[in-house]
Amino acid sequence: MTRYADLVSARKTPQTEKVHDKQVKNSAGGYSFKLDKWGRLQRFLILGAEGGTYYINERKLVKENFASLQECLADDGLRAVKEIVDISVGGRAPSNEAAIFALAVASAHGDAGVRSAALEALPQVCRIGTHLFDFLNSLKEFRGMGRGVRKAVAAWYLEKDPHRLGLQVAKYRQRNGWSHRDVLRKLGGEMGDAEPSKAVILRWVVGGMEGLDARHVNRNDVKSDYDGHAADALPKIIVGYEKCKSASNAREAAQIVREYRLTHEMVPSEHLESSEVWHALMESMPIGALVRNLGRITSLGCLGKFSDAQKTTIAKLTDPVAIKKARLHPLQALKALKAYNDGGKSGKGSLKWTPEAKISDALEDAFYLGFDAVEPTGLNTVGSLDMSGSMAAHIAGMPNLSCAEASAAMLMVTARCEENHEIQGFSDGLTPVNISKRERLDSVMNKTAGKTWGGTDCALPIVWATQGKIPVDVFHVYTDSETYCGSIHPHTALEQYRQKMGRDAKLVVVGMTSNGFSIANPDDAGMLDVVGFNTAVPALMADFARQGFGG
Ligand code: CA
Repeated sequence: MTRYADLVSARKTPQTEKVHDKQVKNSAGGYSFKLDKWGRLQRFLILGAEGGTYYINERKLVKENFASLQECLADDGLRAVKEIVDISVGGRAPSNEAAIFALAVASAHGDAGVRSAALEALPQVCRIGTHLFDFLNSLKEFRGMGRGVRKAVAAWYLEKDPHRLGLQVAKYRQRNGWSHRDVLRKLGGEMGDAEPSKAVILRWVVGGMEGLDARHVNRNDVKSDYDGHAADALPKIIVGYEKCKSASNAREAAQIVREYRLTHEMVPSEHLESSEVWHALMESMPIGALVRNLGRITSLGCLGKFSDAQKTTIAKLTDPVAIKKARLHPLQALKALKAYNDGGKSGKGSLKWTPEAKISDALEDAFYLGFDAVEPTGLNTVGSLDMSGSMAAHIAGMPNLSCAEASAAMLMVTARCEENHEIQGFSDGLTPVNISKRERLDSVMNKTAGKTWGGTDCALPIVWATQGKIPVDVFHVYTDSETYCGSIHPHTALEQYRQKMGRDAKLVVVGMTSNGFSIANPDDAGMLDVVGFNTAVPALMADFARQGFGG
């Protein structure tokens, strides 16, 4: 190669220079590919933007994602709504918050068809009371409570059977300055259609037990022609909630909890210090609540060795069907695992406990069970973990988990099921991580927590395989794609690897933040960009790897 050719060759172009017209400057000063708007929408819906990234603050990250969402809505609004609904309903994301926000934005879109599709999806995306409050909170930034919104929100209440309606209003009573009472007041005449069995619940929401005497209720709030003994028509769950409010001691509260199957949100706080009450709550506790309250339950002594409660808890956390049904996201399990193993030492609260290995094991199982099942490919797979400084930033909305720790945990999903799997760490040099596929998640996370450093060169795992003539079929790179310090771009490195090795190796980039960058070349069918912590992703990566290998 002449000196001139040398200087323009992609092979010799450092990451701080652009080599492809679809590349843009990333936040670290290198050049990455610009993710298309649909890819970016997925990242936002799944990863969220809470807390920003290592490079940009939350406000800027949300604004960028908002702009990208608007582009999707303008391009194909119905597709955008479908994407929001699919990710939310499928339990693909660790938090429903971004989907709720996006649905609110879609509900205020200029196109009437898009608006009504979004409003129609309200009960699917906003499955619980707090989701509804979050939706209305976002919505007010974009539009008022017009007729369409009022009808959709009224339907949210009226299409539930009395038990489910009662559960929603007793369990999720307020958030962000919203209560069901505020919502119902805004709906006015829209609630006129309520059947008597539901109208009585709505009257209770607005006026409490006294409000069931119609004289105390503004007739515009909730109209009802119910004229029996209103209180007798309340569903059991609300009756229990009311009874529990006047329980004189914990024992009585526990009895009421058991009899009426109350959740902890329905129990007055003075009784929530009692192990007797928690014992009763645990009998019908949903998995999500169980996972979030494990520390408290343990500190109150409710999970004694060989106790039935401990056995039931373990059975619940390791039941694949129950985990899927409860939409327990792996990241929630991971967050709980880390908090549980900490024993309350770094928490703000006064609760302390000694973690029990059996419970940690069960949480670890729950983590793996939350992903769609992966059929092993048998292909030579390199799982590469970006351990540069920027990966020390926390995962959006989860201050106790860094991007590097979460990536390492996710990498284990593939590592455990693929026979031919090799784990690599890199920053601006290769970093030995020494993670075995048989390792426990807490140990894997310990090996990455606080161990991030240096610059970023996402090409390194591929360069390593090229230099060592290592036969790789697929590279998985877990990164924020803020690559800048390598002397070759990652996609060019892969092209060279393919040529030199005569292998059609593939690259899957697993994005760990909702920025707009990827190291995958969108014009290359052998490179794929996916979103970290999408519960469908490990299975999807395996399918992608199999393509062209007879599967
Ligand atoms: Ca970095």
